[in-house]
Amino acid sequence: MTEELKTQPIPKVYPFNRDTVRLITGDPELVLSKARLSICEVCSRLPDSAELNSRQGGLEAGVPDVAARLADHVEIRTSLRLLKCPTCGCLYKLERHSEFLSGPGEASWTLTRLQAGDAYELLLGQPAKAVLRRDQRWLLEW
Ligand SMILES: [Zn+2]
Repeated sequence: MTEELKTQPIPKVYPFNRDTVRLITGDPELVLSKARLSICEVCSRLPDSAELNSRQGGLEAGVPDVAARLADHVEIRTSLRLLKCPTCGCLYKLERHSEFLSGPGEASWTLTRLQAGDAYELLLGQPAKAVLRRDQRWLLEW
């Protein structure tokens, strides 16, 4: 065991069901209005959808500065993650498109703002067996 492994908090395991998904996404009935987003210092500077590019696996290189402030929230697959605005809690889908790979280590990503209901449906549609929670992040288990 390395020091790094010993200091990792033990993840908590949740069953994969509607209650857990609701815990992750928040109330699926809740709709964030344009007015609400316009007062968020992070979300007001992000478009509804954006194409991002990265090289050598590091996403940061191609992300608008403000997008780097979004927190990792759920890892569905390495190519599909949900990010969360630390200020207003709005969720974003970050998806990698391998078909656009143009060279080693390069990838094209799409960042899309989601309503809680969209995130809820997206997660519920995954064939996951359980969900792990470590720190503030969620990880789907297959
Ligand atoms: Zn926000």
